[in-house]
Amino acid sequence: MDFSNFKPESLMMSYGYKPSLSEGAIKCPIFQTSTFVFNTAMEGKRFFEVAYGLREKEKGEELGLIYSRLNNPDLEILENRLCLWDKADDCAVFESGMSAISTVMMEFLSPGDLLVYSRPVYGGTDHFIQHFLKRMKIQSVGFRAGETKEEIIARIEATGNAANLKLIHIETPANPTNAVIDIQLCADVKKHFSTEDNQVLLSVDNTYMGPVWQHPLQHGADLVLYSATKYIGGHSDVIAGACLGSFELMARVKGLRTFLGNMAGPWTGWLLMRSLETLKVRMDQQAENAMHVAAYLNNHPKVESVYYLGNTHENGTAAEREVIERQFSSFGAMIAFDVKGGEKEAFQFLDNLKLIKLAVSLGGTESLAEHPQTMTHADVDPEDKKVMNITEKLVRLSIGVENYNDIISDIDQSLATI
Ligand SMILES: *Cc1c(COP(=O)(O)O)cnc(C)c1O
Repeated sequence: MDFSNFKPESLMMSYGYKPSLSEGAIKCPIFQTSTFVFNTAMEGKRFFEVAYGLREKEKGEELGLIYSRLNNPDLEILENRLCLWDKADDCAVFESGMSAISTVMMEFLSPGDLLVYSRPVYGGTDHFIQHFLKRMKIQSVGFRAGETKEEIIARIEATGNAANLKLIHIETPANPTNAVIDIQLCADVKKHFSTEDNQVLLSVDNTYMGPVWQHPLQHGADLVLYSATKYIGGHSDVIAGACLGSFELMARVKGLRTFLGNMAGPWTGWLLMRSLETLKVRMDQQAENAMHVAAYLNNHPKVESVYYLGNTHENGTAAEREVIERQFSSFGAMIAFDVKGGEKEAFQFLDNLKLIKLAVSLGGTESLAEHPQTMTHADVDPEDKKVMNITEKLVRLSIGVENYNDIISDIDQSLATI
């Protein structure tokens, strides 16, 4: 039977795991071990040759198990399964989304280089760029959703450092208002500045939509990044991250991960494998619930604007509609909306929710609500906040797997208190 035609959700229970290697256990055990026993000294020597890049792998040769900072079955099987969703060659799992992002930036940027990024990016990423990378003498320039290819190129040229552009890093749709950024357009900008000796890379933080609803590698990205804490983990009980891409780029990412030692541990790997079995059903249900919640909010007299991909698709420009159809297979499960009024009304709404919890993070089975202006985006540049509609009256919802009628009735009773 040809398993390669199967959908990823059909393979999340079995792919890459051989029960015969684990006493017939149906599930991959937790390999809670720091090191692995070699059969012979020669075997150990050959494993290290591959691990340290002293020789190329022979055809069909897998890197043998050495030491859990380099490899561990719970991570390797998880990484192989994650590759199926994004059709990537290889994957590296990290102890957090931030460690995946910072490792990629440190591997592909050197002092004097230029980084281009979409604004606003995740707060932790923004801090890393503005503080750590700046201290490492890495220059950065931001652009916003809706800018044309020519405008982005002009911004890059205005830095006077376009020849040293090495990495374009984006998040799409943008958090918290679901503003759409066109991956293909960014890939065109990348091509514009790439030369024979300087291949500019494009990395996409796909946490908001992935790995089910958007596949950046298919639209010209080189690397996909995840906070696996969000949809991939999906139960708000684990912090983890992932990076996927070609064998060539991932060899570099995994190389730095080995020396920073920021790989995920076996217990995290095991938890994420368990999560992946229900990834598709969870995300499908969350997207369906979000559709109902958005429809409810669209008609509520105390709600001003609703920022949801389904709304942009219906009421946005033809260009926005085209990008949404090309890039996303769903409108997702993140909704932001303006309450009529200001901070007082927004807080009133947040404080009176009963079923939905007041917490940052997203993508979990339980619905969450938060106030971007004073919480997740508190540190965002005021000008960006204004342009991106991150105001006092904005509330962000991550829709979970509860019955959507119950989510709506909680929102309804809480809006009624305003
Ligand atoms: C949460 C998040 C991160 C950071 O991930 P951690 O797992 O918390 O380190 C990065 N990017 C986006 C878009 C996120 O939502």
